[in-house]
Amino acid sequence: MEIDAKLISSVDSFEKDMIRSLGDMVRIPSISPESGGEGEYDRGEFLVSLLKENGLTGINRFDAPDRKAKHGIRPNIVASIGKGKKSLWVISHMDTVPVGDRKLWNHDPFEPVVRNGKLYGRGSEDNGQSLIASLYAARAVVDCGLAPAVKIAFVSDEELGSAKGITYMADRNAFSKGDEFIVPDSGNEKGDEIEIAEKSSLWARVRTTGRQTHASRPSSGINAGLAASRYMTFTTDYLYSKYGATDALFDPVPHSTFEPTKRLSNVENVNTIPGTDEFYFDCRILPTFRISDVLSDMKRLAGIFGEKTGAEIKVDVFKKSIAAEPTPRDAGIALKTHDAVRRLRGVVPHFVGIGGGTCANIVRMRGFPAAVWSTECGMAHQPNEFSLIGNLIADARVMASIFSST
Ligand SMILES: [Zn+2]
Repeated sequence: MEIDAKLISSVDSFEKDMIRSLGDMVRIPSISPESGGEGEYDRGEFLVSLLKENGLTGINRFDAPDRKAKHGIRPNIVASIGKGKKSLWVISHMDTVPVGDRKLWNHDPFEPVVRNGKLYGRGSEDNGQSLIASLYAARAVVDCGLAPAVKIAFVSDEELGSAKGITYMADRNAFSKGDEFIVPDSGNEKGDEIEIAEKSSLWARVRTTGRQTHASRPSSGINAGLAASRYMTFTTDYLYSKYGATDALFDPVPHSTFEPTKRLSNVENVNTIPGTDEFYFDCRILPTFRISDVLSDMKRLAGIFGEKTGAEIKVDVFKKSIAAEPTPRDAGIALKTHDAVRRLRGVVPHFVGIGGGTCANIVRMRGFPAAVWSTECGMAHQPNEFSLIGNLIADARVMASIFSST
C-alpha cells in the first residue's frame, strides 16, 4: 500500500527524536504514592509539551484527585487526531513500578543509557516504549495529511489497579458506543501475539489462629503453622484438580493456577510453636470459572481443616479482578491489528490469552473490544529494564498503519 510506505518513512525519520523523548521521559520518575513515589504529575506535564511540540494539539485531560500525589492530581491525558462518532483508542500507562533492589542495577534507573540498540531505564519498556511509539505514530499520520478518529491516551495508576487511571476515565464517560481499543502493554519478542482474553485473578489471605506454646510440649498448644500448612497443601491440590480444565488460547499456561505465595514470618526462636500464621494464595482463573466458587471452596475447606486441627482458619479476599468476556477473534480491532502486524512485521500473528491483567480488561468489562499487542523483551518490572529500539520503531510503524486504516 502506497500510504504504508509513506508512513514507514515518516516514522523512521523520527528515530532520533523517539530515542531522545523516551530517554527524557525515563528521567522523570512516575511511581505511584502507594509505592512511595509522587505520582505521574511531572511526567504528564512533560508529555503534554511533547504532544504540542509534535503538532498534536487536540488535548483533553481527566485529572483524578489524589491527596497523596504531587499537586493532588493523577493525570490522564488524551490526544485526538481527527474527529468521528467512534474512536480507536491506544491506551498506554505513564506510571512505573519502583526500581526494586537498586544494587541489581548497573546504572542509575532514572538516567537513560543507550547501548547496543537498547535504551535502559525504569519504565523504558513498561510502558514507555509503547507510549512513545503511539505518540510518533500519531505524528506520522498527521504529517501524511490524514485525520482518522484516533485517540491516544496516557493513563495513570495502571500498576496498582487503575482506579485513578482508565477506570476514572470510563466512569466519566470518556468512551463512546462503538469505540475500540489497542492496549500495547503485553507481547512477546516476535511481536506475533495478540491478546484477546485475560484470566480472573484472586489474591486470597489465609489467617490461622492456634495457641503458642513451648515446642517440647506440643499438646499444650495448637501449631498454627502446621495447621495452615496442611490446609495449604490440600487446598492447592484440590483447586488444581477441581478447576483443572484447559483452554488452548491461554499459552503457555492453558489452565488456572492456584499458588500459595507470600507467607509472613512468625516466631523468632526455633523452640516455640507458633500461635498464628498468615499466608496468601495467588490464583489466576480461566474466564469460564467464577471467583466466587473458588473462594467458597477455600472457605469450606478452611472450616474442615479448622475442625481437624483445632485452629481457626479464616480466608478473605485481599484483592480480586474478574475477567471480562474475551474479545472475539473476528472483532474489527482484532482483525485490523492482525492485518497490520502481518504486513508490517512480516510475521503471522496468533491470538492468545494471558494470566496477567491490563487496561484491556477494564474496557472489556464495559463491553468494548480490545486487542493487547506490542513487541516486548519481557523486561517489565526487572532490574536493568530496557527497551529494544528496534521494537520502538517497528511498533510505531504498525500503529501508524492501523491509524491510517481507521
Ligand atoms: Zn505495563
